[in-house]
Amino acid sequence: MNRPIALVTGASSGIGESFAEFLAANGHDLVITARDKSRLDERAEHWREKFAVEVEVIRADLATNEGIKAIELRLENRSRPIEVLINNAGFGLNKSFTLSERQAENDLLDVLVRAPLRFMHAVVPAMRERDSGVIINVSSVAGWIAGGSYSAAKSYLTVMSESLHTELRGTNVKVLALCPGFTRTEFHQRGRMRMTGLPEFMWLQSHEVVAAAWRAAQQGRAVAIPGFQYKLLSLISRFAPRPVVRRVGMNLRSRQRK
Ligand code: NAP
Repeated sequence: MNRPIALVTGASSGIGESFAEFLAANGHDLVITARDKSRLDERAEHWREKFAVEVEVIRADLATNEGIKAIELRLENRSRPIEVLINNAGFGLNKSFTLSERQAENDLLDVLVRAPLRFMHAVVPAMRERDSGVIINVSSVAGWIAGGSYSAAKSYLTVMSESLHTELRGTNVKVLALCPGFTRTEFHQRGRMRMTGLPEFMWLQSHEVVAAAWRAAQQGRAVAIPGFQYKLLSLISRFAPRPVVRRVGMNLRSRQRK
């Protein structure tokens, strides 16, 4: 019997790598993508050996139209349909909007917003026809606050996931926004963010985040918030006056800058 195929963006590191490993361990063939081809090839070989699954590697820079197009074409290929789409690739900026480079802002929008939008649009028609599929969009708790363009992009992704979840109600196509808090990956180091002082209990592990997301998606939920500490913060951010949320958000952002 053919195994279902999962496509994971940003599978070379962190949460995406954990998703790919989890899905391979649970009987999925993989399509993995990111910019670092040698790292992807190394992970692919490891998972082929460890889980006896097929792994296809596509190098794509999602800040470029060609990169997005390459993944879109794979998602639209109905001869080897994608059953699980994990929109995970992402990065953060360590500069405020008034100081950041325009190119970096534009790249952020492409990777965090345009790519997941186009990938969902490419894969949903076939999922609807088959009446089966899972889409997990890796958003963030940052979408609840007003902490620069990263927050705005994650807010978009959460709302878009909720909308599509509602639109597909009554079908077997599951759509989930995963909203993790601080998770131990390469994210902060790559973005040169200063994280000293964050208490240990605020850190999540990527394999726990992934397991929580998968459980929530299978239960048909629209949003997953792993960890009691972030569930509590989600409640507080929802009921706190918005000016307070704005102030806390910007303070948090500036503390992360170098
Ligand atoms: P990570 O370890 O830095 O991994 C990021 C992944 O995205 C890498 O595989 C990277 O691969 C890929 N990527 C970055 N820019 C790309 C581009 N232009 N084109 C294609 N792929 C690109 O960070 P992570 O924490 O796992 O991040 C995964 C997702 O979780 C992101 O969407 C992030 O916003 C979200 N998130 C993270 C945290 C956290 O605290 N870590 C919290 C909430 C949400 P290449 O460099 O090889 O391209």
